[in-house]
Amino acid sequence: MEVETSNKVGNANINVIALDWGAWGKIKAEIEIEEDAWMPIYTKEGEGYITIPLDERGGIDNKIADAFEIQHRWNEGIETMQDEEGSQKIGDGLTAYEEYRGFMLGGEGGVHITTDPEKLMNLFVYCVSAEIKSNLIDKFIVEDEIRIIILDEQTDFVNATIKVINPNRGEWSVCEQHGLAVYHYNLSALGSLGVAYGELGSPKSNKCIGLDLNKIASLGWSKDVFNSIAIHEFMHGCGVHHHGELNEDIEVNGKTKSIALWNGVNAGNIECVMVYGHGKYFKQKNGELATDERKQPIPFINTFWKRRANELCVDENGQVGNKSSQLGSAEKGNCLSQVHVSDE
Ligand SMILES: [Zn+2]
Ligand SMILES: [Zn+2]
Repeated sequence: MEVETSNKVGNANINVIALDWGAWGKIKAEIEIEEDAWMPIYTKEGEGYITIPLDERGGIDNKIADAFEIQHRWNEGIETMQDEEGSQKIGDGLTAYEEYRGFMLGGEGGVHITTDPEKLMNLFVYCVSAEIKSNLIDKFIVEDEIRIIILDEQTDFVNATIKVINPNRGEWSVCEQHGLAVYHYNLSALGSLGVAYGELGSPKSNKCIGLDLNKIASLGWSKDVFNSIAIHEFMHGCGVHHHGELNEDIEVNGKTKSIALWNGVNAGNIECVMVYGHGKYFKQKNGELATDERKQPIPFINTFWKRRANELCVDENGQVGNKSSQLGSAEKGNCLSQVHVSDE
């Protein structure tokens, strides 16, 4: 668009109002030196335009305001809008520009947030019930890599069925990125506290997460423990497997008991949020039930309370102080490397 002063003036001010958080533009000026003879005006640096917002860092215009880059202490390096996590199939599937443009939480009259593409991956989670939302810790950070942003399905502009968190993206996005949706389910028939439905892949292939609020509440567990149960399922929603096979039910002295397996779901790093940590007895490396000198089964040492919501293991064995003392290394392990937040 063009504006022109009605009289001859020495200087002119124009106001530009942006109607989008990630708006950008260029301003050029011309001066009429004689009747119908127009000359371009240059900046001190000899450019024929200025950008709004100011966008000179990074060499090529990346449509991201320099002020934002400086505020977040970015290196002078992000040259294109798709730089960093988004374009590498790792990360959170959001481009640098999308994270700068930000997200509206709470729909109309809600809050606008921006996220930082250089530091953390952002996993968006919709809570279908307010009760679940109130029990989860917002902006919780897992293994210094993944930040979990809790959305409210009742008010946010995306919905739990579609789950797309960048619905009005454009050419600047690398993919249609999904979040996870969480429901309250009665899971007593399954005997579990939480479950991840759908394919193990990335948030796009996850159908939904179910958490049994009533069951967890009836156990009297703290918000931290609830969070660790939830994050275990959220990580399944991002493609993370268990450490190994689930416990086996076998008869011991005429009663059915849950047996933890060598290299199984309780093995490896016992602080990892993907570990189960419970069983009655356990099997040794040779596949036999561990027994003492009187041939009585040795109880499995419950490790559930060592599990931490913010920890994902980085190897199969664990380190001194957090490795399983009875079950050896994890068959899978290195849970951090399995995380796929990006749907690219
Ligand atoms: Zn699980
Ligand atoms: Zn792990």
